[in-house]
Amino acid sequence: MNPTALADQLTAAARDARRHLDTIAAAGHGTVHPTTDPTGWLVGQILRTVAALTSPTARACRHVTAAPRVLHAAVWAPGIVVCPACVRHLAPAPGEDNRCDRCRRTVAQLHPSTVALGPLLIGYGLCRRCQHTAGLAPPGERVEGRRQPR
Ligand SMILES: [Zn+2]
Ligand SMILES: [Zn+2]
Repeated sequence: MNPTALADQLTAAARDARRHLDTIAAAGHGTVHPTTDPTGWLVGQILRTVAALTSPTARACRHVTAAPRVLHAAVWAPGIVVCPACVRHLAPAPGEDNRCDRCRRTVAQLHPSTVALGPLLIGYGLCRRCQHTAGLAPPGERVEGRRQPR
């Protein structure tokens, strides 16, 4: 494949990924961060996830090929990458589904989010406190406990 064709495919796959993000958001599965410029904790998680995906022990569903397309991965399932049809294989293990990916506490209310890295969608779940600490709280939300200045 020549570089131009590959670039075209990557662009199309990234566009597809963006559409999936909208679908995920519309389905109420959490905040979506379609950012290509993540910061802090999230950068570390993305690097860790990508490193796990490119390691020899990585597992992929049988639909994943060399051709660029929308792929799903999750911070809580390192080394697994699947196509949109196989996304259920990323479901957290029992007992892990309410565990914060940052502080590892089990919380009553976990906030699932997704970050897009080109065509790769990486899911993660944070407790409210870590959302704020990592700067990933939805815009417009006040930090708990902080009073508005009069
Ligand atoms: Zn698949
Ligand atoms: Zn947390």
